[in-house]
Amino acid sequence: MAETIGILGSGLIGRSWAMLFASAGYKVKLFDIEPKQVQGALKEIESQLKELEKTKLLRGKLSAAQQIALISGTSNLKDCVTGAFLVQECTPEILDIKMKALRDLDAVVQAPTIISSSTSTHMPSVLSKDLKNKERFVVAHPVNPPYYVRLVEIVPAPYTEEWVPVKVRTLMETIGQVPVSLKKEIAGFSLNRIQYVILNEVWRQVQEGILDVADVDKVMSEGLGPRYAFLGALETAHLNAEGMVSYCERYASTIYSVSQSMGPIPHMEGKALENIQKQMCERIPLEKLQERRQWRDACLTKLSVLKKEV
Ligand code: NAD
Repeated sequence: MAETIGILGSGLIGRSWAMLFASAGYKVKLFDIEPKQVQGALKEIESQLKELEKTKLLRGKLSAAQQIALISGTSNLKDCVTGAFLVQECTPEILDIKMKALRDLDAVVQAPTIISSSTSTHMPSVLSKDLKNKERFVVAHPVNPPYYVRLVEIVPAPYTEEWVPVKVRTLMETIGQVPVSLKKEIAGFSLNRIQYVILNEVWRQVQEGILDVADVDKVMSEGLGPRYAFLGALETAHLNAEGMVSYCERYASTIYSVSQSMGPIPHMEGKALENIQKQMCERIPLEKLQERRQWRDACLTKLSVLKKEV
């Protein structure tokens, strides 16, 4: 019999997890505080899975109909949790709402069910410190859109039992995601810490009048980005010389001195923000954001197909 996973919150990320878990044959029970949301989610998941099948982008070995049959909704939290070996929490990123949802969940969960949170920003220890099930709490942070961008950051709290992140990592591999396991929690986890370093430097280059907005974004999309779609920063360095030691012999002192010239962390407000917003809106007016997001997702879809082929 298929193992069951409960999902708390049927918004954008809850729906994505439901599709990913079902693609590997797991039974999924979706719960939302707004029962209407669950009905909407089930309809949208059904139409998305059928469309993915038509365009040959459906993940897993099961047909769309088989995957749809694995996903059900419930308006009862206890029902969502009963028999589930893991519950994936996908409620809004607002701390009070998340804490309340987790307290409610904690009251109905029993060992050995894992509580896994999709949070992007909250530390596992902050979310779970008062839960009676806190030893089985872990963060599994996806990247949007999870169906095409496969990274999942797994982050334990200091007291999370060792088997929990190991089991979640195996689950992520089983559904075809790419997990990374942080050994301990840290603010921003890994992805956002790296993203913020990039954002800070890009901001400084515009603020200091070195590049305009369109050009500084090309440095990523036409320079670093294509490489980084396939290699990490460390492998890039290893290949750019005769290995890592050779790279550091050649470039470490330059990297150190350039890094020292990088200036303070920008506050991302005031005149610099006005300037960047103005230039961004000339390129992509606010009313075109949705169109551009669709274009981005179409590009990511094609990239995910290419990555499977290489
Ligand atoms: P969303 O607002 O689209 O969906 C949240 C859902 O949770 C809503 O349907 C809401 O009705 C429901 N909800 C609220 N309180 C609840 C409760 N007590 N019990 C059950 N359901 C409840 O949010 P989202 O974008 O899907 O984000 C969910 C989580 O995933 C957040 O923690 C977010 O940080 C994380 N995340 C989001 C993204 C992204 O790009 N959207 C990426 C990675 C991680």
